[in-house]
Amino acid sequence: MFESSCLCGANRISFEADSILKMRCHCTDCRKFSGSTNTNNLFVPLAGFKVLSGKLKTYTKSVESGNEMTSYFCDQCGSTLYRKTSLTDKAVAVMIGGIDGPEAIENGCPEHELFVRNRPSWMKPIEGSSQDEDHGLPEIKIPEAV
Ligand SMILES: [Zn+2]
Ligand SMILES: [Zn+2]
Repeated sequence: MFESSCLCGANRISFEADSILKMRCHCTDCRKFSGSTNTNNLFVPLAGFKVLSGKLKTYTKSVESGNEMTSYFCDQCGSTLYRKTSLTDKAVAVMIGGIDGPEAIENGCPEHELFVRNRPSWMKPIEGSSQDEDHGLPEIKIPEAV
């Protein structure tokens, strides 16, 4: 079990350890939304996911992949804890930076990089990670047990 919290601590979520997919996204929406060059996300099953405290605001946008992406963020400090994509209703994408404790982040090396056509030249590809020019998000595999 892992927990994640926003910058001010008002919002906390928890999720099961096993992620379905570890992903780095360089799409232009992830850029604007994060204020950085990319996002790093852990897709986790909704079945093991809980909001422990707080009240998250939402913002929904049609993103570069063509899916609708809804961000869940703190209305005080603005940290996004997770997002939901219209691609699946069985999993959420947890933003890796909010996760408490180093273990999930250490083990969260992305297996897939998306929209690498947008990756700046000074950033290297992640060794061993699949490289998709655009939105080749692998079909999210929901474990049978979920
Ligand atoms: Zn907060
Ligand atoms: Zn993206």
